[in-house]
Amino acid sequence: MARHVIILGAGISGLSAAWRLSDIGAKVDIFESGPSVGGLAGTRREGHYCLDVGPHSFFSDDQQIVNTVCRLFKDNLKHLPRKVKFYYKGKYIDYPLTAQGVLLRMGLRSGVKAACSFLKGKIFRYNRGLRSQENQTVEDWAISSFGEYLYRSFFKPYTEQFWKIPCSELSSRSIPTNTRMSFLNTLRLLLRQKTGSGGESLIEREMRPTYYPDTGFSEISEQIAKRIENNQGRIHLGCEVTGVVELSSGKMRITYQRNGQREEMEGDYVISTVPLSSLVNMLSPSVSSEIKLSANKLEYRPLIVLGMLTQKQKILNCGYAYILDRPFNRIFEMNEFSPSTSLPGENIIAVEIPCLQGSVLWKASKEELFRMCIPSLSRDGFISSGEVKKLFLIKAQYAYPIYRRGYAGHLSSVISYLSRYRSLVTLGRCGEFMYMDIDECMKRAFDFADTFKNNGNH
Ligand SMILES: Cc1cc2nc3c(=O)[nH]c(=O)nc-3n(C[C@H](O)[C@H](O)[C@H](O)COP(=O)(O)OP(=O)(O)OC[C@H]3O[C@@H](n4cnc5c(N)ncnc54)[C@H](O)[C@@H]3O)c2cc1C
Repeated sequence: MARHVIILGAGISGLSAAWRLSDIGAKVDIFESGPSVGGLAGTRREGHYCLDVGPHSFFSDDQQIVNTVCRLFKDNLKHLPRKVKFYYKGKYIDYPLTAQGVLLRMGLRSGVKAACSFLKGKIFRYNRGLRSQENQTVEDWAISSFGEYLYRSFFKPYTEQFWKIPCSELSSRSIPTNTRMSFLNTLRLLLRQKTGSGGESLIEREMRPTYYPDTGFSEISEQIAKRIENNQGRIHLGCEVTGVVELSSGKMRITYQRNGQREEMEGDYVISTVPLSSLVNMLSPSVSSEIKLSANKLEYRPLIVLGMLTQKQKILNCGYAYILDRPFNRIFEMNEFSPSTSLPGENIIAVEIPCLQGSVLWKASKEELFRMCIPSLSRDGFISSGEVKKLFLIKAQYAYPIYRRGYAGHLSSVISYLSRYRSLVTLGRCGEFMYMDIDECMKRAFDFADTFKNNGNH
């Protein structure tokens, strides 16, 4: 008899798992609290307008995953040139940052200061007591990689603007691996050498083909959702899961809210892609207070995206730009991804506003956020108040797992606790508390489904 798998969350991880499991004959039910599929890789659709949850494009160094996604679009998925910049003191610098780009924009005096401070950092590195990788903070890593001057003038303000947490409290694991380049590596990259033995250079990585669907990034999720439904899988939107119980029979039961009513469903397995802290708090019988404490230490940084509809075109001349010393840390232009995301002659420019859970910003309305952002948007020449016809707002509560110093211990306690459940698995960016792009989410979900099949569970 086909096994019944209940999946929490219809982001790319939950959908990919459901797709592969339903392909091998499992019965799947997906529960999603939001009104549409896609999660962080989703698109807010309002009339003719499409706004993504931050700038997204699809890329991967795994050719099988690339082929799988391209086949969803019958090989008509549009190739998108990667156009990313760093906007610093009114000028664009190429991103990823290179020593050349930063130093050229800083001017000779600052360049000399940065180089001296870098050398000093290298010479006196041992003074920082070289903490273990586990305890190394962003501050330790950045000073030893870039030197104190670049760290204080550039790296620290940007990182703290993004995370809203001091660099000395963040684990160095918060730095995405593609940014983990030392100053020397950066110089090597300028000469276009490889970053490691036989590996891709950063430039090559960044040159990988990227793709974008016509009408918003969530088309990828929507195409996967169609395949699941073709396989008789069911996707329940607007259903927030509130409880997960392991029954003495070994089966799993979930409870969820649909239109304010409490309902439940039983299945053989549960795959959870919801935030780990939410999952632990919904398990019953109730989890020990120590594990709950550890789970609650695994925090997420929310994200606000404010979209502005305008007739102005070619505002950034790139897909998105990182930006320093503004109320927002990235700015992106939807027409650079696809002009079909708004009506002809229109365009959506959007900013990503970092904030902490429960903060004043998190609670602010789109009008308040607009009033906060428009002075600098206008000063920088991006857009003025009179050029904006309509506002859009997206709030994502669980956008970035926060790798605070010491988080790894809490994570391993929670994961080891959850491994007691024979029929419960966690997957995905929030479910595993791990940075992943969508290719990695898909790969991990497919790998899980293949193991499930190989164990005869279908
Ligand atoms: C700003 C930004 C830009 C990014 N850019 C890129 C990019 O260019 N390329 C790329 O490949 N990746 C990018 N990523 C990463 C990518 O978006 C994520 O890795 C991916 O979308 C994570 O998918 P997921 O399914 O694991 O998690 P999620 O998308 O978070 O899915 C979890 C789902 O669970 C639902 N849920 C939560 N609680 C409950 C509950 N109690 N009951 C029911 N449902 C619940 C949520 O609503 C959500 O839909 C970016 C991420 C961000 C934040």
